[in-house]
Amino acid sequence: TSPVVGSSLIPIINKLQDILAPVGRELTNISLPQVAVIGSQSSGKSSVLEALVGRDFLPRGCDICTRRPLVLMLENRPEKPGDDGKEWGEFRHLPGKCFYDFSKIRREIQAETERGVGLNKRVSDKQIFLKISSPNVLNMTLVDLPGITKVPVGDQPIDIEAMIRNMIMVYIQQESCIILAVSPANSDLATSDALQMAREADPTGYRTIGVITKLDIMDRGTDARNFLLGKVVPLRLGYIGVVSRSQEDINNNRSIADALSHEEKFFNNHPVYSSLSGCCGIPQLGRKLNQILERHIRTVFPSLKSELNSEIFSVGKGLRTYGRALEPDVEKGVILLNILSKYCEAFSAMLDGRSQDIATTE
Ligand code: GDP
Ligand code: MG
Repeated sequence: TSPVVGSSLIPIINKLQDILAPVGRELTNISLPQVAVIGSQSSGKSSVLEALVGRDFLPRGCDICTRRPLVLMLENRPEKPGDDGKEWGEFRHLPGKCFYDFSKIRREIQAETERGVGLNKRVSDKQIFLKISSPNVLNMTLVDLPGITKVPVGDQPIDIEAMIRNMIMVYIQQESCIILAVSPANSDLATSDALQMAREADPTGYRTIGVITKLDIMDRGTDARNFLLGKVVPLRLGYIGVVSRSQEDINNNRSIADALSHEEKFFNNHPVYSSLSGCCGIPQLGRKLNQILERHIRTVFPSLKSELNSEIFSVGKGLRTYGRALEPDVEKGVILLNILSKYCEAFSAMLDGRSQDIATTE
């Protein structure tokens, strides 16, 4: 399964990267914002993240599984001949060790969680850093966070709820953070912890996407139509409903590809959701995220462009001062920068052409 995060943006950014590389420049200006996944415990956060990345590698389950923030850095590595689309993970606490087997990544996340906080359900804000290198991802960071709980269990302190809320706030208060606010459809959506916290951190709703999980196990006779349409709790960027793997599916090792096609069938055959295809399904969530990332690129692009222009200007001045023949490298630089600036023009034009409004409600 290829991941849904960034499918449409990868070629654009790779191209820009290719052009910038010879002049020794990185796309730091275009580094994409972090995406944080928040919600109550077992609402399906880790499942959504996995489906977006297109790989099985996160601990999931009905108990508290995510007990430390997992900072997941996706690194795009353009495919080289003979690579076979190789993807691997590397943990910051195990530098140099490449994990090609993603089930071993899951085991290492579990082991490192236990090393940091012990076995008995304790939670810590000490992050685990995992970098995934792949030709199929965008350079961006996703954060899987412990779920909000109310009642302490195991070795959890009595103020566990406040502790987790504070931990989440540190991430979602950052203006550049995109919030995926996950609420399960089988509990009362109007009391969603995720939406409440998202509103606190992002009152204008400019960077919050509502994700409604578990649409397959709602009470018979009910559906999430009004919620998905933003009629209950309006959200500027709207909602996406998803169906991930149940615990039984996980126990039976159902693959992500299988789960995605099951999800597609579920929505297509559903009497209510089949007419709401714009706000249903993991691929649709990926598309929405992409639009937001595009919006981000559009915002930071002008400054990158003007920086390059001033560089062209100063290199040109250098050329006139020292004479052409002596500085073949400088000359090469100017040619490249000129190509780059032309490309930038084309890139701007393309972005303008794609500037559709991503807000779906209001
Ligand atoms: P997290 O605690 O929010 O990260 O939630 P997980 O992703 O670990 O999921 C918690 C449990 O809910 C797991 O047993 C999943 O199999 C199950 N689950 C998650 N999403 C869905 C869904 O859309 N439908 C069903 N039936 N089960 C789901
Ligand atoms: Mg989790």
